[in-house]
Amino acid sequence: MRASNEAMLLRRIWQAELVSRAELARETGLSASTVSSIVGRFAEDGLVRLQEAGPSRGGRPPVMVAFADDAYCIVGVEMGATHVTVAVTDLRGRILAEEYTPFATREQPEETLALLVRSVRSCRSRAGAPGLRCLGVGVAVPSPLDVRRPGELSALILPAWRGINLAERLVVALGLPVVLENDANAGALAERWFGIGGDDFTFIKVGTGIGAGHVISGSLYRGATGIAGEMGHLAIDPAGPPCSCGNRGCLHVLAGTPALLQLAAAVPGLEHPPTSALEIVAACNAGEPWAVEIVAKLGGWLGVGIAGLVNLLNPSHIVLGGEIVQAGEALLAPLRASASARSLLFSASHVEIRATSLGPAATAIGAGALMLDRALDDLSFFVSTTQEVA
Ligand SMILES: [Zn+2]
Repeated sequence: MRASNEAMLLRRIWQAELVSRAELARETGLSASTVSSIVGRFAEDGLVRLQEAGPSRGGRPPVMVAFADDAYCIVGVEMGATHVTVAVTDLRGRILAEEYTPFATREQPEETLALLVRSVRSCRSRAGAPGLRCLGVGVAVPSPLDVRRPGELSALILPAWRGINLAERLVVALGLPVVLENDANAGALAERWFGIGGDDFTFIKVGTGIGAGHVISGSLYRGATGIAGEMGHLAIDPAGPPCSCGNRGCLHVLAGTPALLQLAAAVPGLEHPPTSALEIVAACNAGEPWAVEIVAKLGGWLGVGIAGLVNLLNPSHIVLGGEIVQAGEALLAPLRASASARSLLFSASHVEIRATSLGPAATAIGAGALMLDRALDDLSFFVSTTQEVA
């Protein structure tokens, strides 16, 4: 009971940022003396700061409780198919240090593990004073996660990683708690905690693969075995090209980065066909007709998938992430047109479709938010992680 009261209070203080002890008692139904003794312990542990408010109308001025965003840092990691991003943040998602390394992670598990460890260590040592306490490490991975084997990646999607317990290996190497999350779910968490999320929205990550993270009534929806949101394998065109999953015409084979690059390679007369999604985005933003056309085509396919999603889940908005969203309206306008042509509900639901407002480290920050969420559920994370920078 006491532990859950403490967790409830600390989460409430994080949400409010600054709140009076009296208000906390009112909101939680705990007695003033219970609130004051728990908050006193938080202050001793450095999790909150107590300060006096200005003079009140008679009586003693209320004691205000401020969440200490700098009490710990969190490490967020995005292991993408072609890069690793590490972002060390404070407890409010503000970046203290970050590092981006291009790297083909899917075929090279051991080298990727070594890179992750190196990058986390170097970011931590750049993030602040030595001895800054670290809550743990959240890692976003380009794979669904099976709730029965939460430390491992899908051997179906990443065969080279078969039998490797990524979470355990990192715990041993870093000496910190580690949680894994699917990358689209991590993007959704970043929007929910620090971005333009809300209680009912879907985050869609468009990259080498396409995945969705659904927040339903305020919580991330993972499904029965943890693979909800594998939107990339929605069948869009039954007569389309074959997909690695065994079906044809999945959204992923039509609108993922490899499909984009194939379309670009087939453009007649291009002297240097692009080798990355970012190059296509740059050409599109410069008004090159072939690139505008490819981005619009991608938007059209995404619109087909999104029309189905809106019919199923009725989100208030959809947030898109991934490098391609830097093409802005060149992507979003054809996407909306395609979705509304296929779904009466799309128009009726007034669903808003936007690009993420969090920068390129959003997915890493979202993985860190998962670590913070765990710790606000189980406060033992706050006392058990006092390791110095390795
Ligand atoms: Zn597929």
